[in-house]
Amino acid sequence: MTSPESGALEAKAEAGRPESARQAVLTLNAGSSSIKAALFDRHGGTRPFLSCLAERLGSTEASVSFHDQRKALVKGPPLPADAGRSHEAMLEWLLPCLRDLGQADVVAAGQRVVHGGPMHAEACLVDEGVVAALEALVPLARSHQPHELQAIRSALRLWPGLPQIACFDTSFHASVPEVARTIALPQHITRQGVRRYGFHGLSYDWISGRLPAVLGARASGRVVIAHLGNGASLCGLVDRKSRATTMGFTTLDGLVMGDRPGLTDPGAILYLFDELGLSGQEMRHMLFEESGLRGVSGISNDMRVLMESDEPTAKLAIDLFVYRAVREIGGIAAEIGGIDALVFTGGIGENAAPIRAAILEGCAWLGVRFDPDANAVHANFLSPAGARVTAHVIKTNEEAVIARQTRAVLAGIESQ
Ligand code: ADP
Repeated sequence: MTSPESGALEAKAEAGRPESARQAVLTLNAGSSSIKAALFDRHGGTRPFLSCLAERLGSTEASVSFHDQRKALVKGPPLPADAGRSHEAMLEWLLPCLRDLGQADVVAAGQRVVHGGPMHAEACLVDEGVVAALEALVPLARSHQPHELQAIRSALRLWPGLPQIACFDTSFHASVPEVARTIALPQHITRQGVRRYGFHGLSYDWISGRLPAVLGARASGRVVIAHLGNGASLCGLVDRKSRATTMGFTTLDGLVMGDRPGLTDPGAILYLFDELGLSGQEMRHMLFEESGLRGVSGISNDMRVLMESDEPTAKLAIDLFVYRAVREIGGIAAEIGGIDALVFTGGIGENAAPIRAAILEGCAWLGVRFDPDANAVHANFLSPAGARVTAHVIKTNEEAVIARQTRAVLAGIESQ
């Protein structure tokens, strides 16, 4: 589906592109009402030379902003009135616009996909078969997968000749041993793929790559990474490979999150069905959108808002977030035979010094020590000299991992 307007824009972009147009890979990360897009050099690099955030899609308040490599605002063309009405309309407008602004020749698109299921241990070229397989996984990742699939389907329709690569949040956990992947349900259920997968793999992949530079020799030891954002999970690594993680079959498991409860007694879920008469749809809504920090505080899913609130329920929500993180860090450390370093990342992990401090204090029994001054400025290295277990902040960069995996799949296609 190409509208006359976008066709004209595309033609203009083609005509205006210098012969030396830079070859680029486009990364796409589609959320429920947003799309993050970025152009990376086709041959390498971890910073996009142009990035874009489209927000509040589907509303009359839709907006789009562009940034250059140094994160300075770039003036883009005004957003046409109808481009913000849907993900597809936005993508249709966006590609020619990015090509034009970035003076770029886009050679492939890499899409973030939360759930790859049992068959996708690494990134892959998208075709109709892959779309169908990913479609079947929608019930396992309702807050992300439908929007990502929508972006994939739109991209297939809008840019049929452009190779599209799906990059999965589950792939990084392919190295988790069978015992840690198994859910203690009957075999015939396990055989249907009901097992633990783990998520946030693009983020863990990035942090794993940064460990040698930040941790030195400890990088190859036992490291626990806490990805604390609106979604939150832990990953236990040995020699930079995932061995344990807190999310499971779906993104509902593990830590308390912005809107999700994390680990919940399955008996409580049965009770809600059997005794309180909630429907499947009501349960899904409650578990994916009304629980976690939002549910406990009754105020917000946003940690910043809760930290500024004087309400006792906001304090309880924060205390529970910290309590569960401390408890699960202990569990992951047990799974990987101890801990040499603890790394924080994600919106909360990178920015919320008081939350990090509370978690680090709770982990003192593991031998973790930290310097409050270093913590206050979100330093890479938080621990005083001589700490047996060190603590760190490392910014995540999921887009760079999508770009890297996209380049790798593209290179494989081109070498065939
Ligand atoms: P997502 O999982 O959607 O990618 P992010 O990683 O962006 O989420 O994290 C969002 C969370 O990070 C929100 O709870 C937000 O309040 C929190 N956050 C971001 N900046 C800060 C800050 N300066 N202080 C405390 N919390 C912060």
